[in-house]
Amino acid sequence: MITLQVKTSVKQGLVNITTQVQRVIRESGVAQGVCTLYVPHTTAAITINESADPSVKEDVITGLKKLVPEDPSYRHLEGNSHAHIQSILVGNSVQVFVEDGQLKLGTWQGIFFCEFDGPRTRDLWVKVLSA
Ligand code: ZN
Repeated sequence: MITLQVKTSVKQGLVNITTQVQRVIRESGVAQGVCTLYVPHTTAAITINESADPSVKEDVITGLKKLVPEDPSYRHLEGNSHAHIQSILVGNSVQVFVEDGQLKLGTWQGIFFCEFDGPRTRDLWVKVLSA
């Protein structure tokens, strides 16, 4: 397993990490297999979605803010319960097939690290298994 560092520059936003993950796969030497990506944080997440139009990632954040707005009635003293809940909704791991040394993604898909309580430097755990 290797750890990628993902620097986020905003309080809430999606970061396209497809190129970084593809680099890890190339360096692993695995041609056929599966790549697991795991976020070891409680106010961040990972997802796969459209990477062609960059406005989609902004709309995802807009939608998640509407679904789970900041709310002073939450009891958690850190004040970021909305970020914990958004993290739960999106999820903290994804798996992608590796074929011919390449991520096997759909035409419009990219891999996005989701920051819900930044900006911070985050860890992303990556394991590429040959199969
Ligand atoms: Zn918290």
